[in-house]
Amino acid sequence: MPLFEELSERGDGLCELCGSAKQLDVYAVPPAEEAVLDRSVLVCATCKMQIEQPELADPKHWYCLKESMWSEVDAVKVVCYRMLHTLKSEPWSAELLEMLYLDEETLSWAGEGLQGADLNEPGDHVDSNGNKLENGDTVVLIKDLQVKGANFVAKRGAVVKSILLDPENKEYIEGKVNGQQVVILTKFVKRA
Ligand SMILES: [Zn+2]
Repeated sequence: MPLFEELSERGDGLCELCGSAKQLDVYAVPPAEEAVLDRSVLVCATCKMQIEQPELADPKHWYCLKESMWSEVDAVKVVCYRMLHTLKSEPWSAELLEMLYLDEETLSWAGEGLQGADLNEPGDHVDSNGNKLENGDTVVLIKDLQVKGANFVAKRGAVVKSILLDPENKEYIEGKVNGQQVVILTKFVKRA
């Protein structure tokens, strides 16, 4: 049976994260090399887009994690864990994260997707290649990015000069794109 059908059966034809029936797709949970049942989640287009571009995550959408984090499926729990982590500046999310229980193996899988970053730990901002970033550096975008709250896409290859590091979160930098100050995830840039 094709994977999509197996997942649809497991998820009752609904997004395993938010329960939506719209535009369902297979999400292979990184670092899965290939999409297999145990390492995949059936997700809707909204969930998938926000998982892949966490800087666009709309906290309200993710209240659904309150339910889905109790899934029996490890892959679902891993995605819940990572999204709660992404949103943990939201008090409700930090609270859920504390309640979410993962066994050791699943927890280490979940952690892999966080690029080894505990967001509260001090450390360096690094680009997609692991090179250290500093205030004032020039970076290049390595993919097209939808800019939150603005009606444009920051194009892959765009040069961002004089970046500012987010002192609170080493996954974020700020810089000007199209004349607007925007927040960019460090994993989508490389130092010029
Ligand atoms: Zn969804």
